[in-house]
Amino acid sequence: MSGFTVADALVEARARGVDRLDAQLLLARALARPRAWLIANDGVVLDATQTHAYLDELARRASGEPLAYIVGEKEFHGLALEVNSDVLVPRADTETLVDWALELLRGPLAAVGAPRVVDLGTGSGAIALAVKHGAMDAQVCAVDASAAALEVAQRNVQRFGLDVRLLCSHWWDALAGQRFDLALSNPPYVAEGDAHLADLRHEPAMALAAGVDGLDAIRQIVAHAIEHLEIGGWLLLEHGHDQAASVSALLARAGFSGINSRRDLAGVLRCSGGFVPATAQG
Ligand code: GLN
Repeated sequence: MSGFTVADALVEARARGVDRLDAQLLLARALARPRAWLIANDGVVLDATQTHAYLDELARRASGEPLAYIVGEKEFHGLALEVNSDVLVPRADTETLVDWALELLRGPLAAVGAPRVVDLGTGSGAIALAVKHGAMDAQVCAVDASAAALEVAQRNVQRFGLDVRLLCSHWWDALAGQRFDLALSNPPYVAEGDAHLADLRHEPAMALAAGVDGLDAIRQIVAHAIEHLEIGGWLLLEHGHDQAASVSALLARAGFSGINSRRDLAGVLRCSGGFVPATAQG
């Protein structure tokens, strides 16, 4: 294709159903210019290499691949994390979990010196790194069952120079005998067979789907949480839009106190958590 201008490139994106902002970001990338440059230069003609690079990435985006995988990066809680298809794309909704964790570390857990925090199923390392970044005195450990995800998390640890310990573990399995003051997780929680999974087909299935009701991973985490938490220690879990009551009930049955839920940016109850009361441990 020749004579393809900046304006044409954006029209082409619309024809393929690609969101305008995403198209601008891909085009700016192909041209190695800031996005704002496009507005004043819509008559500029792309060369063959730029046209090819842009159309290739536009096709990927049009097929539903997340923008974050195409550009290799996603901002989460102020950190530009490396991502690829081995990890879930960090969501803004998950910042609710991080904000809650930081509130606890500055509030009820502030008296604990060098609090021990664990992120179960860390993926890119998003939650663990954001918590460490916001609470530098915390000792943060992050686990994942996927070796490929841990490679991404390791590069993110290096990218930010933050001291986060990474470990290969399926939930608590490799953490026998270890206790924490705060456990966090954004586990898979989508029900198998949920139509929404089709939209998420580019992301790792193991990070998304969890049994017929989507609660399998949460049940596994909750089942062994108390033996890995100190008295007064908290467990915070992200979950699906309609799972707050079920997750709260699982926490109550396991012996947690102070159970409550937090809303995400859309106003949906997205995280639930509680703490270990003195009576819960034998
Ligand atoms: N929040 C994601 C979605 O529904 C799912 C993430 C997860 O299962 N942890 O798009």
